[in-house]
Formats: sequence, structure tokens, C-alpha cells
Amino acid sequence: ETVVNRIAAGEIILRPANALKELLENSLDAGTKTIQILVKDGGLKLLQIQDSGHGIRKDDLAIVCERFTTSKLRTFEDLSSIQTFGFRGEALASISHIAHITITSRTADSNCAFRACYADGKLIPAKPGANPDPKPCAGNVGTQITVEDLFFNVPFRRQALRNPNDEYNRILDVVSKYAVHNSGVGFSCRKQGSATADLHTASNAAPVDIISQLYGSTIKGQLLKLICQDQNLGFSAKGYVTHANFSLKRFTFILFINNSLALKKAVEGVYTTMLPKGSHPFAYLALTINPENVDVNVHPTKREVHFLHEEDITAAVVEALQATLANCNE
Ligand code: ADP
Ligand code: MG
Repeated sequence: ETVVNRIAAGEIILRPANALKELLENSLDAGTKTIQILVKDGGLKLLQIQDSGHGIRKDDLAIVCERFTTSKLRTFEDLSSIQTFGFRGEALASISHIAHITITSRTADSNCAFRACYADGKLIPAKPGANPDPKPCAGNVGTQITVEDLFFNVPFRRQALRNPNDEYNRILDVVSKYAVHNSGVGFSCRKQGSATADLHTASNAAPVDIISQLYGSTIKGQLLKLICQDQNLGFSAKGYVTHANFSLKRFTFILFINNSLALKKAVEGVYTTMLPKGSHPFAYLALTINPENVDVNVHPTKREVHFLHEEDITAAVVEALQATLANCNE
């Protein structure tokens, strides 16, 4: 059974950035205002995330890495479940099958933190032969999760990830997108041993400022607000897009709830007709879709999502984008 779990986890978590996304979602769900990330060897040696959220109670620490353990009330239609694995209460369990996990957490009603170590979903002693129960320790309210030696027991997966720099860039990419989408939360990310953060956002910064900080200062003053909605189609989209006379190093497309290739292509298509060849715009869209219209039967490894009226919604977004870009040229 352990081997089956390990293989399953290795199919869902393909690289450190996938694990980090799950940990980020958990910290945000816990209502954190700050997220600090520490990385060694592209997250393969160490991936640590510290939040200031509501924390995990001592009793719950014993079970958080078990499969299907969730404190989150969800209906099957809940979008947040397809935004992650498509299942509930599986992220920590999956990671615990392919890495060493240590959690230190403190809730506001406790006068100390507790620390616990995990393997294959269960508590394990910090040292061989010791008692595996969570141990009291010093710590602020919030949660620190340390993931070490990711894929240590999945050699083929580990060997596929040759370049730690590449993995680190993917991590920065994920953190950047979440930082843009969660402007009320301060994010930082640094490599272990480095005194300075490679990414740092303030918890009170405006989305436009975060975008220009993370995607280049030249983008500032080039961003247009995009808003579009349609009750019949059951959706709304809000975000920022660059002018049709501006270009970045590559087309940057940030889409929450999830990636829709059709929508991405359509947005890129609008710019292609307006920008000189080889130009690269930026677009950030927060899409809200009536949960009933989202196809939840996508396989968890799929990074894309499909929804009802996808074509009509894409057309509506394209129209709004064209109008937004046209208005500013007048
Ligand atoms: P899910 O997020 O679907 O509930 P996870 O495996 O990601 O499943 O997490 C399991 C449970 O662990 C969560 O429901 C939550 O109770 C707890 N948890 C995980 N990370 C945190 C965190 N950073 N702060 C508080 N609670 C957390
Ligand atoms: Mg989760």
C-alpha cells in the first residue's frame, strides 16, 4: 500500500513547485497575512513555508498528514477543490509519501507551539526510538511546514529534475502569481544561505504595484483594468492587462481559477492583431464562474479546467479586452 501511495503521489506532484502550490493554498486558507518561503536546491533538498495563519491544534497535528483529513467544509462543487488536486485532504498526505515533513504550529489559544514529524501519512519520532507525539516548543502563532528530500524514494522522478535553478525559477513563478492574486498578503522567497530575498512583496501593496515589482518596473503605467461579466453565462472576470503598445520578455498570462488554454490563446490572439510581431503582453485575470458550470471530473494531473459556456465566456473576455485596449488609444 505504501508503494501504491508513493506512486500516486509522484504522479500528482511532479516537481517542487507543485508541492509549494499546495502549501501556499493551505496557508492562504488559514487566513495568513504573511508567507515566507525558504528553498534549497530548487526545493529538492528543502522547501519551507512559514505563515501567520490560524495554526493547527496539537490534537490535529496527529492526523493532518493522513489521507482525506480536511478541516475545510466543502461541497463537491467547491471550486477550490479543483483548483488543487480535485480531491480533498490529500495534499499533505501525498507529500508525506515522497518527502520528510516537519510541521511546527501554534494556535492563538495555546501558549506554545508544537512540532511533529511525518512519514507515509503518520507521525514518526524526530529521532529513532523516541516518542512520535507532537512536542511543545517556542513559536509564533501560525504554521511552519518543512519539506525535505522531496522524491528521495521516487528515484525516476528525482532524476528527471536535473537543474535546481530551473526548479527554483518555477517556484518563483508560482509565488509571483499567488502574490499578484493575493495583494493582502506579504510574500517573500529566498534561497537558504542567502541574506536577501529574491522576491518580496508588502502585505498592503496594490495589485498594480505588485505586478510592476514582480514583472518589471517598465510595466507600471502600462496596465489597464479589465472588468467583464455576464449573468447569463454565470461568470465575471477582473484583472489587469498591458497596453497594446507595450511588450515584455514573454507573454505572461495569470489566470485564476485555473488555466484555460482556450482563453489564453484567445487573449494572446487579441494582442497579436494589435502588437508588432515578437511583442509580449501581460494579462492577469481573476475569473469567477458559477460552480455548477465547472467540470469537476478532470483528472487531478490536468493543469487545465473546462467549464460550461467556455466558448461564449472566452468571446466575452475577448470583446472586453478589445474594448479596453481600444478605449485607451483614443
Ligand atoms: P485540504 O487543504 O484539502 O484540507 P491538505 O492535505 O492540504 O487538505 O491539508 C490538510 C489539513 O491540514 C487542512 O484541512 C488544514 O486543517 C490543515 N493545514 C494544512 N496546512 C495548514 C496551515 N498552513 N495552517 C493551518 N492548517 C493547515
Ligand atoms: Mg490543501
